[in-house]
Amino acid sequence: MKVAVFDTHKYERATLTAQNEGTGHELVFFEEKLKPGTAVLATGCQAVTAFVNDRLTRETIATLHGLGVRIIAMRCAGYNNVDLEAAADLDMPVVRVPEYSPYAVAEHAVTLLMALNRKITRACSRVHDNNFSLDGLVGFDVHGKTVGVLGTGKIGLCFARIMKGFGTRILAYDAFPRQQLADEIGFEYAPLDKVLAQSDIVSLHVPLLPDTLHLIDEAAIAKMKHGAYLINTSRGPLVDAKALIGGLKTGQIGAAGLDVYEEEEHLFFRDLSDKILQDDVLARLLSFTNVIVTSHQAFLTIDALNNIASTTWANLAAFERGEPLKNEVLDVKKKRASA
Ligand code: NAD
Repeated sequence: MKVAVFDTHKYERATLTAQNEGTGHELVFFEEKLKPGTAVLATGCQAVTAFVNDRLTRETIATLHGLGVRIIAMRCAGYNNVDLEAAADLDMPVVRVPEYSPYAVAEHAVTLLMALNRKITRACSRVHDNNFSLDGLVGFDVHGKTVGVLGTGKIGLCFARIMKGFGTRILAYDAFPRQQLADEIGFEYAPLDKVLAQSDIVSLHVPLLPDTLHLIDEAAIAKMKHGAYLINTSRGPLVDAKALIGGLKTGQIGAAGLDVYEEEEHLFFRDLSDKILQDDVLARLLSFTNVIVTSHQAFLTIDALNNIASTTWANLAAFERGEPLKNEVLDVKKKRASA
């Protein structure tokens, strides 16, 4: 099968190519994101694969279908950027990589937390400048603190397990609590307001859905413990970035570690170092010494890249052989079947 591989970068092409050996898929790499204006690049392909910031709108999907593309394979877990109704209308399955390494993302969340807490970026740049003063670098023991985990799916649970190792009390919020796992790992479920009010650290692991958009807005920030740390490795729009800036200015938010950003689509994954940053909200966030922004790199371990590549090619091979698609996104099909 000929596959148009959109939105690919140097860091992943080697693994995508290596894991494809022996599958028989012919890969055509494009650096361009998949969106209405670029879908035509898939001419001659029967499958496309895309990533987190591609725009698989109804228009994109209709163009792909018109070109003869019959399956969409997301190289990620999230699919909030895919118009599933449009794909179902055209009978195009959407497959994904539901789990490639929850460890990679959870460990990055911990990395952001600890780098902020122990002021690692400030400390490194000081020492490079022969400034060995410790003033302004005081952190806190994570041990004994309360950590709020919003979303106890694969990544949230992994994060909770790591944070248990630090000796923290974990309060979790999830629309579908899993009490047995909570008992096993040793954490407590609580309503969102209680989690926000009692946590010294809040880490986001819920998916982006209409009801989680701006889950952390001005009102939620006001409910948080004064000086709490906020970590977001899930999706940018979970946090109202302007409200976050307000919280940081008053000290209500003690620090923020962001691997994702509301308006990241036009920025992240690209080298814009010779351009003037036009996004004033991001520029303000970057001006805080108690904010760390990484550009959606939480997944970026070699283990995760290998899993992403092998699962994506296996998803396409199953489709080619007419086998059941175990990683198909079935939200719309299920909704239609029960209507
Ligand atoms: P998951 O599906 O295993 O878990 C999501 C959890 O959120 C589930 O327990 C679910 O019950 C809960 N949930 C769903 N809707 C909710 C709601 N409205 N309120 C409260 N809880 C709700 O997903 P996962 O694999 O743990 O991934 C979590 C998110 O991490 C993904 O949706 C994705 O956005 C993000 N992610 C980011 C990166 C990165 O590189 N930064 C990589 C992978 C995934």
